[in-house]
Amino acid sequence: MINIPKGTKDVLPNESYKWNEVERVVQTLRHRYNLHEIKTPMFEHTELFVRGVGNSTDIVNKEMYTFTDKGGRSITLKPEGTAGVVRSFIENSLFNEPLPLKLYYITPCFRYERPQAGRLRQHTQFGSEWFGCDSVEADAEILMLASDFYKSFGINPTVLINNLGCSECRKNYISALKEFFAPKIKDMCPDCAKRFETNPLRILDCKVEECKQINKSAPKISDYLCEDCKTRFEQLKTLLTKLGVNYKFDPMLVRGLDYYTNLIFEFVDEDKKLGQNALGGGGRYNNLVEELGGKPMPVVGFGIGIERLLLYLENKGIEVKNNQVLDVYVANATNNLEPIVKIVKLLRDNNISCEMNLSNRSLKAQFKYADKINAKNVLVIGDDELKQKKFTIKNLSEGKQTEIGEEDLIKYFKG
Ligand SMILES: [Zn+2]
Ligand SMILES: [Zn+2]
Repeated sequence: MINIPKGTKDVLPNESYKWNEVERVVQTLRHRYNLHEIKTPMFEHTELFVRGVGNSTDIVNKEMYTFTDKGGRSITLKPEGTAGVVRSFIENSLFNEPLPLKLYYITPCFRYERPQAGRLRQHTQFGSEWFGCDSVEADAEILMLASDFYKSFGINPTVLINNLGCSECRKNYISALKEFFAPKIKDMCPDCAKRFETNPLRILDCKVEECKQINKSAPKISDYLCEDCKTRFEQLKTLLTKLGVNYKFDPMLVRGLDYYTNLIFEFVDEDKKLGQNALGGGGRYNNLVEELGGKPMPVVGFGIGIERLLLYLENKGIEVKNNQVLDVYVANATNNLEPIVKIVKLLRDNNISCEMNLSNRSLKAQFKYADKINAKNVLVIGDDELKQKKFTIKNLSEGKQTEIGEEDLIKYFKG
């Protein structure tokens, strides 16, 4: 027997309703926020991620699925959703569309990670990227969108927010960081030593205990913000309070990707039992389009891991709504198949979900089967019923039987 590759997961029929619900929620939000879907390929030229995600990140250094194709090109399975969308935005001149352009996607992402709870080598992201809006309203609205997504599943995680500042504040901050870390870097992990040279900001994101301790007393970006960035951040906080978004300012928050400017955020569960469980995040990256060869274009976006969300809900004991309901099982007690097929078709044409006997089962076995698959009703059709144009419907959950004329059949289910 051949097994599933390490770090991957089947979505089996008994849990696929959860995925259907995720898609339904996304469709509802697409409608409410007037988002447009974008689909980009599963793989891109490796260079896109090296430039777009940043070559000092773990994703690019350690986790990418990169291979040479038969034409000798270096190809990478997408490790995240944003770079491909930005590439497509530039390549297809989407900047000529009316802006802002509010896009969303649901895509598999591939990262060669050490498999552990909630971390898979193939995972799925729901992401949204808003191009061409640099306003604080856009920052607030996209946080509302993510927050509405979570609320649809009955949770309201805290969103930690921080402001990494504009390039001006960043310059001052990074030199303050260098000054702070210079005498300490010899006591920090080898990764941080590298980061000190390439991107000191990422030292703050280190998970190694010694580094975490040193990081606690590092200078904070909030003390290096220019007046404009300070005002903007205050405005955002006011808006979020007004919109009822559950946020918290976290001056130590940095994110694992290099391309953020100004706003960054992360949705977490602060329940101490579960640890600080990151459920999703994003921010503003106003330089990325230009870095990938386009004209300057402000963008704000987020990504939410779906497998991680579902695992989280499971750990919390929160049920995902199951919309997979069988309205009626049509049981046949006759050899006259034609009228049965007609009734099944009539029901389906009226958007009533139904199944019929496909396995030559006895009437008793059909009832058993209907019960096993959680049919809400069983409609029995025999020769007598066909003659009298009257049927018996048994409601399986209530155990109640109803006699009904053929003309009232649809009304019964739609009632
Ligand atoms: Zn600034
Ligand atoms: Zn470190």
